[in-house]
Amino acid sequence: MTQPAAPVRLAVIPGDGVGPEVVAAAVLVMRAAVAAEGGELKTTELDWGGERFLREGAAMPADAAAVVKTHDAVLFGAVGRPDVPDHELVWGLIIGLRQQLDLAVNVRPVHAFPGVPTKVRDTDGVDLVIVRENTEGEYVGAGGLAHAGTGHDLGIEVAVHSRRVIERAAHHAFALAEQRSGRLSLVTKSNAMRFGYPLWDRVVTEVAEQYPAVELEIVLVDAMAARMIQSPRSLDVLLAGNLFGDILSDLAAVLAGGMGMAPSANIHPGGQVPGIYEPVHGSAPDIAGRGLANPVACILSGALLLDDLGHTNAAHGIREAVAAALLDPVNHTPDLGGDATTADLASAVLNRMEI
Ligand code: ATP
Repeated sequence: MTQPAAPVRLAVIPGDGVGPEVVAAAVLVMRAAVAAEGGELKTTELDWGGERFLREGAAMPADAAAVVKTHDAVLFGAVGRPDVPDHELVWGLIIGLRQQLDLAVNVRPVHAFPGVPTKVRDTDGVDLVIVRENTEGEYVGAGGLAHAGTGHDLGIEVAVHSRRVIERAAHHAFALAEQRSGRLSLVTKSNAMRFGYPLWDRVVTEVAEQYPAVELEIVLVDAMAARMIQSPRSLDVLLAGNLFGDILSDLAAVLAGGMGMAPSANIHPGGQVPGIYEPVHGSAPDIAGRGLANPVACILSGALLLDDLGHTNAAHGIREAVAAALLDPVNHTPDLGGDATTADLASAVLNRMEI
Protein backbone atom coordinates (compact mmCIF):
# COMPACT_ATOMS: atom_id res chain seq x y z
CA MET A 1 0.00 0.00 0.00
CA THR A 2 1.41 3.41 -0.89
CA GLN A 3 1.80 5.84 1.99
CA PRO A 4 -0.11 9.12 1.62
CA ALA A 5 2.31 11.99 0.93
CA ALA A 6 3.12 14.06 4.02
CA PRO A 7 1.18 17.34 4.15
CA VAL A 8 2.99 20.47 2.99
CA ARG A 9 3.59 22.58 6.12
CA LEU A 10 3.38 26.13 4.89
CA ALA A 11 4.06 29.25 6.97
CA VAL A 12 2.11 32.17 5.52
CA ILE A 13 3.13 35.78 6.16
CA PRO A 14 0.59 38.00 4.37
CA GLY A 15 2.24 41.21 5.68
CA ASP A 16 1.10 44.69 4.65
CA GLY A 17 -0.56 46.58 1.82
CA VAL A 18 -1.55 44.30 -1.05
CA GLY A 19 0.28 41.39 0.65
CA PRO A 20 -2.83 39.86 2.30
CA GLU A 21 -4.85 40.14 -0.93
CA VAL A 22 -2.34 38.42 -3.19
CA VAL A 23 -1.40 35.82 -0.57
CA ALA A 24 -5.07 34.85 -0.05
CA ALA A 25 -5.39 34.30 -3.81
CA ALA A 26 -2.17 32.25 -3.95
CA VAL A 27 -3.08 30.03 -1.00
CA LEU A 28 -6.47 29.28 -2.57
CA VAL A 29 -4.81 28.17 -5.80
CA MET A 30 -1.99 26.24 -4.08
CA ARG A 31 -4.43 24.39 -1.83
CA ALA A 32 -6.44 23.27 -4.86
CA ALA A 33 -3.31 22.23 -6.78
CA VAL A 34 -1.96 20.14 -3.91
CA ALA A 35 -5.39 18.57 -3.29
CA ALA A 36 -5.59 17.67 -7.00
CA GLU A 37 -2.51 15.44 -6.61
CA GLY A 38 -4.00 13.86 -3.47
CA GLY A 39 -1.96 15.94 -0.99
CA GLU A 40 -2.74 18.41 1.72
CA LEU A 41 -1.59 21.96 2.39
CA LYS A 42 -1.40 22.81 6.10
CA THR A 43 -1.01 26.53 6.65
CA THR A 44 0.06 28.53 9.69
CA GLU A 45 -0.72 32.21 9.31
CA LEU A 46 1.80 34.53 10.98
CA ASP A 47 0.75 38.13 11.72
CA TRP A 48 4.26 39.53 11.18
CA GLY A 49 4.57 42.97 9.58
CA GLY A 50 3.62 46.61 10.04
CA GLU A 51 0.59 46.18 12.29
CA ARG A 52 2.53 43.96 14.64
CA PHE A 53 5.33 46.54 14.67
CA LEU A 54 2.88 49.29 15.72
CA ARG A 55 1.34 47.03 18.36
CA GLU A 56 4.41 45.35 19.82
CA GLY A 57 7.42 47.35 18.65
CA ALA A 58 8.82 44.57 16.44
CA ALA A 59 7.67 43.32 13.03
CA MET A 60 8.39 39.72 13.99
CA PRO A 61 9.12 37.83 17.23
CA ALA A 62 12.65 37.17 18.48
CA ASP A 63 12.28 33.45 17.73
CA ALA A 64 11.01 34.04 14.16
CA ALA A 65 13.69 31.88 12.50
CA ALA A 66 12.92 28.97 14.85
CA VAL A 67 9.18 29.30 14.09
CA VAL A 68 9.88 29.25 10.35
CA LYS A 69 12.07 26.15 10.70
CA THR A 70 9.09 24.11 11.92
CA HIS A 71 7.64 24.48 8.41
CA ASP A 72 8.64 23.28 4.94
CA ALA A 73 8.54 26.74 3.32
CA VAL A 74 7.23 30.28 3.71
CA LEU A 75 4.88 32.19 1.44
CA PHE A 76 5.39 35.90 2.03
CA GLY A 77 3.28 38.80 0.72
CA ALA A 78 4.90 42.19 1.28
CA VAL A 79 5.94 44.58 4.03
CA GLY A 80 5.79 48.36 4.12
CA ARG A 81 3.42 50.97 5.50
CA PRO A 82 3.52 54.70 4.92
CA ASP A 83 3.40 55.32 8.73
CA VAL A 84 6.39 53.10 9.62
CA PRO A 85 9.99 53.80 8.49
CA ASP A 86 10.96 51.35 5.75
CA HIS A 87 14.04 50.03 7.54
CA GLU A 88 11.97 48.90 10.57
CA LEU A 89 9.93 46.59 8.37
CA VAL A 90 12.26 45.71 5.53
CA TRP A 91 15.29 45.04 7.75
CA GLY A 92 13.12 44.10 10.76
CA LEU A 93 11.31 41.41 8.81
CA ILE A 94 12.17 40.21 5.36
CA ILE A 95 15.88 41.07 5.12
CA GLY A 96 16.35 40.05 8.76
CA LEU A 97 14.69 36.71 8.14
CA ARG A 98 16.65 36.06 4.93
CA GLN A 99 19.87 36.73 6.84
CA GLN A 100 18.95 34.63 9.90
CA LEU A 101 18.02 31.71 7.65
CA ASP A 102 21.03 32.30 5.38
CA LEU A 103 18.89 32.36 2.26
CA ALA A 104 21.81 33.25 0.05
CA VAL A 105 20.30 32.64 -3.37
CA ASN A 106 17.48 34.64 -4.89
CA VAL A 107 15.81 33.06 -7.91
CA ARG A 108 13.64 35.21 -10.18
CA PRO A 109 12.06 33.53 -13.20
CA VAL A 110 10.68 35.74 -15.96
CA HIS A 111 8.17 34.15 -18.32
CA ALA A 112 6.23 36.14 -20.91
CA PHE A 113 2.77 34.55 -20.94
CA PRO A 114 0.97 34.81 -24.29
CA GLY A 115 -1.83 37.37 -24.19
CA VAL A 116 -0.22 39.61 -21.56
CA PRO A 117 0.47 43.13 -22.83
CA THR A 118 3.99 44.46 -22.22
CA LYS A 119 5.62 47.86 -22.62
CA VAL A 120 8.41 46.20 -24.63
CA ARG A 121 7.63 44.98 -28.15
CA ASP A 122 8.12 41.36 -29.19
CA THR A 123 8.49 39.45 -25.95
CA ASP A 124 6.94 36.23 -27.30
CA GLY A 125 8.74 33.21 -25.95
CA VAL A 126 10.81 35.06 -23.35
CA ASP A 127 11.61 32.59 -20.60
CA LEU A 128 14.64 33.28 -18.44
CA VAL A 129 15.75 32.99 -14.81
CA ILE A 130 17.92 35.39 -12.87
CA VAL A 131 19.94 33.86 -10.03
CA ARG A 132 20.98 36.67 -7.73
CA GLU A 133 23.42 36.44 -4.85
CA ASN A 134 21.41 37.65 -1.88
CA THR A 135 23.76 38.51 0.99
CA GLU A 136 26.84 40.45 -0.10
CA GLY A 137 28.02 42.85 -2.80
CA GLU A 138 26.99 46.46 -2.51
CA TYR A 139 24.11 45.57 -0.13
CA VAL A 140 26.23 43.95 2.57
CA GLY A 141 25.74 46.98 4.84
CA ALA A 142 29.43 47.84 5.33
CA GLY A 143 30.35 51.51 5.44
CA GLY A 144 29.67 54.65 7.34
CA LEU A 145 29.08 58.35 7.27
CA ALA A 146 32.07 60.53 8.09
CA HIS A 147 32.01 64.29 8.83
CA ALA A 148 28.22 64.06 9.27
CA GLY A 149 26.49 67.42 9.45
CA THR A 150 29.61 69.46 8.70
CA GLY A 151 28.66 70.23 5.14
CA HIS A 152 31.42 67.88 4.01
CA ASP A 153 29.47 64.68 4.69
CA LEU A 154 31.18 61.62 3.32
CA GLY A 155 29.17 58.46 2.59
CA ILE A 156 31.19 55.26 2.38
CA GLU A 157 29.55 52.09 1.06
CA VAL A 158 31.86 49.13 0.77
CA ALA A 159 31.05 46.24 -1.57
CA VAL A 160 32.07 42.80 -0.35
CA HIS A 161 32.46 39.74 -2.59
CA SER A 162 33.73 36.49 -1.09
CA ARG A 163 34.77 33.30 -2.86
CA ARG A 164 32.55 31.10 -0.65
CA VAL A 165 29.45 33.14 -1.39
CA ILE A 166 30.18 33.41 -5.12
CA GLU A 167 30.76 29.66 -5.29
CA ARG A 168 27.46 28.71 -3.70
CA ALA A 169 25.44 31.04 -5.94
CA ALA A 170 27.36 29.71 -8.94
CA HIS A 171 26.63 26.07 -8.12
CA HIS A 172 22.94 26.86 -7.89
CA ALA A 173 22.97 28.66 -11.23
CA PHE A 174 24.95 25.94 -13.03
CA ALA A 175 22.65 23.20 -11.70
CA LEU A 176 19.66 25.17 -12.96
CA ALA A 177 21.28 25.79 -16.36
CA GLU A 178 22.00 22.06 -16.62
CA GLN A 179 18.26 21.31 -16.21
CA ARG A 180 17.29 24.03 -18.70
CA SER A 181 19.07 24.97 -21.95
CA GLY A 182 22.67 24.49 -20.83
CA ARG A 183 23.46 28.19 -21.19
CA LEU A 184 24.58 30.46 -18.35
CA SER A 185 25.38 34.18 -18.57
CA LEU A 186 27.43 35.65 -15.75
CA VAL A 187 26.85 39.40 -15.36
CA THR A 188 29.71 41.48 -13.93
CA LYS A 189 31.54 44.75 -14.61
CA SER A 190 35.17 43.76 -14.66
CA ASN A 191 36.31 46.42 -17.09
CA ALA A 192 35.63 49.20 -14.57
CA MET A 193 35.79 47.45 -11.20
CA ARG A 194 39.12 45.86 -10.50
CA PHE A 195 38.71 43.52 -7.55
CA GLY A 196 35.24 42.18 -6.71
CA TYR A 197 33.93 41.45 -10.20
CA PRO A 198 37.17 40.00 -11.58
CA LEU A 199 36.97 37.62 -8.59
CA TRP A 200 33.44 36.67 -9.69
CA ASP A 201 34.73 35.99 -13.23
CA ARG A 202 37.57 33.83 -11.94
CA VAL A 203 35.58 31.82 -9.40
CA VAL A 204 32.61 31.20 -11.71
CA THR A 205 34.98 30.11 -14.52
CA GLU A 206 36.53 27.61 -12.08
CA VAL A 207 33.12 26.29 -11.00
CA ALA A 208 32.20 25.90 -14.70
CA GLU A 209 34.75 23.07 -14.97
CA GLN A 210 32.43 20.92 -12.84
CA TYR A 211 29.56 21.49 -15.28
CA PRO A 212 30.93 20.59 -18.72
CA ALA A 213 27.42 20.46 -20.22
CA VAL A 214 26.89 24.17 -19.49
CA GLU A 215 28.22 26.87 -21.78
CA LEU A 216 29.31 29.93 -19.77
CA GLU A 217 29.51 33.46 -21.14
CA ILE A 218 30.57 36.55 -19.19
CA VAL A 219 28.67 39.73 -20.05
CA LEU A 220 29.17 43.30 -18.78
CA VAL A 221 26.10 44.58 -16.95
CA ASP A 222 25.55 47.56 -19.26
CA ALA A 223 25.67 45.33 -22.33
CA MET A 224 23.29 42.92 -20.59
CA ALA A 225 20.74 45.69 -19.90
CA ALA A 226 20.62 46.52 -23.62
CA ARG A 227 20.54 42.85 -24.67
CA MET A 228 17.67 42.12 -22.30
CA ILE A 229 15.52 44.55 -24.28
CA GLN A 230 16.96 43.92 -27.75
CA SER A 231 17.25 40.13 -27.77
CA PRO A 232 15.78 38.67 -24.57
CA ARG A 233 15.25 35.27 -26.20
CA SER A 234 19.04 34.86 -26.41
CA LEU A 235 19.05 34.56 -22.59
CA ASP A 236 18.27 31.61 -20.36
CA VAL A 237 19.94 31.50 -16.92
CA LEU A 238 21.66 34.65 -15.66
CA LEU A 239 23.92 34.77 -12.60
CA ALA A 240 24.57 38.13 -10.96
CA GLY A 241 25.68 39.70 -7.70
CA ASN A 242 23.25 41.46 -5.38
CA LEU A 243 23.15 44.92 -7.00
CA PHE A 244 23.13 43.92 -10.67
CA GLY A 245 20.70 41.07 -9.95
CA ASP A 246 18.32 43.48 -8.24
CA ILE A 247 18.32 45.99 -11.10
CA LEU A 248 18.24 43.46 -13.94
CA SER A 249 15.40 41.48 -12.42
CA ASP A 250 13.16 44.57 -12.24
CA LEU A 251 14.06 45.29 -15.86
CA ALA A 252 13.35 41.69 -16.83
CA ALA A 253 9.94 41.82 -15.08
CA VAL A 254 8.90 44.45 -17.63
CA LEU A 255 9.32 41.78 -20.35
CA ALA A 256 6.65 39.70 -18.60
CA GLY A 257 4.14 42.51 -18.01
CA GLY A 258 5.51 44.24 -14.92
CA MET A 259 5.80 43.87 -11.16
CA GLY A 260 2.46 42.10 -10.79
CA MET A 261 3.80 39.18 -12.84
CA ALA A 262 7.20 38.55 -11.20
CA PRO A 263 7.66 35.72 -8.67
CA SER A 264 10.78 35.01 -6.62
CA ALA A 265 12.33 32.50 -4.25
CA ASN A 266 14.90 33.02 -1.50
CA ILE A 267 16.68 29.74 -1.07
CA HIS A 268 19.29 28.27 1.25
CA PRO A 269 22.09 26.97 -1.00
CA GLY A 270 22.15 23.60 0.77
CA GLY A 271 18.36 23.36 0.77
CA GLN A 272 18.22 22.29 4.44
CA VAL A 273 16.37 25.43 5.55
CA PRO A 274 12.85 26.48 4.47
CA GLY A 275 12.89 28.95 1.60
CA ILE A 276 10.88 32.16 1.46
CA TYR A 277 8.80 32.61 -1.68
CA GLU A 278 7.42 36.05 -2.48
CA PRO A 279 6.23 38.29 -5.28
CA VAL A 280 8.96 40.73 -6.35
CA HIS A 281 6.65 43.71 -5.83
CA GLY A 282 6.24 45.51 -2.51
CA SER A 283 3.21 46.52 -0.50
CA ALA A 284 1.88 48.93 -3.18
CA PRO A 285 -0.03 51.10 -0.68
CA ASP A 286 -1.52 53.14 -3.54
CA ILE A 287 -3.73 50.22 -4.58
CA ALA A 288 -3.99 48.26 -1.31
CA GLY A 289 -7.37 47.11 0.00
CA ARG A 290 -9.21 47.79 -3.26
CA GLY A 291 -8.97 44.44 -5.00
CA LEU A 292 -6.81 45.94 -7.77
CA ALA A 293 -3.59 43.98 -7.19
CA ASN A 294 -2.50 41.41 -9.73
CA PRO A 295 -2.13 38.12 -7.80
CA VAL A 296 -0.10 36.33 -10.51
CA ALA A 297 3.34 37.15 -9.03
CA CYS A 298 2.28 35.61 -5.72
CA ILE A 299 0.52 32.63 -7.33
CA LEU A 300 3.64 31.87 -9.41
CA SER A 301 5.77 32.20 -6.25
CA GLY A 302 3.53 29.48 -4.81
CA ALA A 303 4.25 27.34 -7.88
CA LEU A 304 8.00 27.81 -7.41
CA LEU A 305 7.62 26.77 -3.77
CA LEU A 306 5.75 23.60 -4.66
CA ASP A 307 8.31 22.79 -7.35
CA ASP A 308 11.15 23.06 -4.83
CA LEU A 309 9.30 20.79 -2.39
CA GLY A 310 8.96 18.17 -5.13
CA HIS A 311 5.27 18.80 -5.90
CA THR A 312 6.09 19.30 -9.56
CA ASN A 313 2.68 18.23 -10.88
CA ALA A 314 0.90 20.73 -8.65
CA ALA A 315 3.34 23.46 -9.72
CA HIS A 316 2.90 22.59 -13.39
CA GLY A 317 -0.89 22.60 -12.98
CA ILE A 318 -0.76 26.11 -11.50
CA ARG A 319 1.41 27.47 -14.33
CA GLU A 320 -0.83 25.95 -17.00
CA ALA A 321 -3.93 27.41 -15.35
CA VAL A 322 -2.30 30.85 -15.05
CA ALA A 323 -1.32 30.71 -18.73
CA ALA A 324 -4.85 29.73 -19.75
CA ALA A 325 -6.47 32.45 -17.60
CA LEU A 326 -4.16 35.16 -18.94
CA LEU A 327 -5.04 34.33 -22.55
CA ASP A 328 -8.43 35.99 -21.99
CA PRO A 329 -8.16 39.78 -21.47
CA VAL A 330 -11.36 39.68 -19.43
CA ASN A 331 -9.23 38.26 -16.60
CA HIS A 332 -6.61 41.02 -16.73
CA THR A 333 -6.20 43.27 -13.67
CA PRO A 334 -5.73 47.05 -14.16
CA ASP A 335 -1.89 46.82 -14.27
CA LEU A 336 -2.39 44.66 -17.41
CA GLY A 337 -4.88 47.12 -18.88
CA GLY A 338 -8.03 45.27 -17.80
CA ASP A 339 -10.62 45.72 -15.09
CA ALA A 340 -10.69 42.33 -13.41
CA THR A 341 -10.21 42.29 -9.63
CA THR A 342 -7.66 40.26 -7.69
CA ALA A 343 -10.43 37.77 -6.84
CA ASP A 344 -11.65 37.58 -10.47
CA LEU A 345 -8.19 36.62 -11.73
CA ALA A 346 -7.68 34.13 -8.89
CA SER A 347 -11.06 32.48 -9.68
CA ALA A 348 -10.19 32.36 -13.38
CA VAL A 349 -6.98 30.49 -12.51
CA LEU A 350 -8.84 28.16 -10.16
CA ASN A 351 -11.50 27.41 -12.79
CA ARG A 352 -8.85 26.35 -15.27
CA MET A 353 -7.18 23.89 -12.95
CA GLU A 354 -7.83 20.21 -13.49
CA ILE A 355 -9.29 19.48 -10.09
P1 ATP B 1 7.16 49.06 -1.10
O1 ATP B 1 7.63 50.30 -0.42
O2 ATP B 1 6.54 48.10 -0.15
O3 ATP B 1 8.20 48.44 -1.98
P2 ATP B 1 6.03 50.41 -3.35
O4 ATP B 1 4.63 50.80 -3.69
O5 ATP B 1 7.04 51.48 -3.19
O6 ATP B 1 5.95 49.50 -2.05
P3 ATP B 1 5.91 48.27 -5.15
O7 ATP B 1 4.90 47.68 -4.26
O8 ATP B 1 6.97 47.36 -5.63
O9 ATP B 1 6.62 49.48 -4.46
O10 ATP B 1 5.11 48.82 -6.38
C1 ATP B 1 5.36 49.92 -7.20
C2 ATP B 1 4.06 50.20 -7.95
O11 ATP B 1 3.75 49.10 -8.83
C3 ATP B 1 2.89 50.29 -6.99
O12 ATP B 1 2.71 51.61 -6.58
C4 ATP B 1 1.74 49.74 -7.77
O13 ATP B 1 1.06 50.75 -8.43
C5 ATP B 1 2.37 48.79 -8.76
N1 ATP B 1 2.22 47.39 -8.32
C6 ATP B 1 3.01 46.70 -7.48
N2 ATP B 1 2.56 45.47 -7.28
C7 ATP B 1 1.44 45.34 -8.00
C8 ATP B 1 0.50 44.29 -8.20
N3 ATP B 1 0.62 43.09 -7.62
N4 ATP B 1 -0.54 44.53 -9.02
C9 ATP B 1 -0.69 45.70 -9.62
N5 ATP B 1 0.16 46.74 -9.48
C10 ATP B 1 1.21 46.57 -8.68
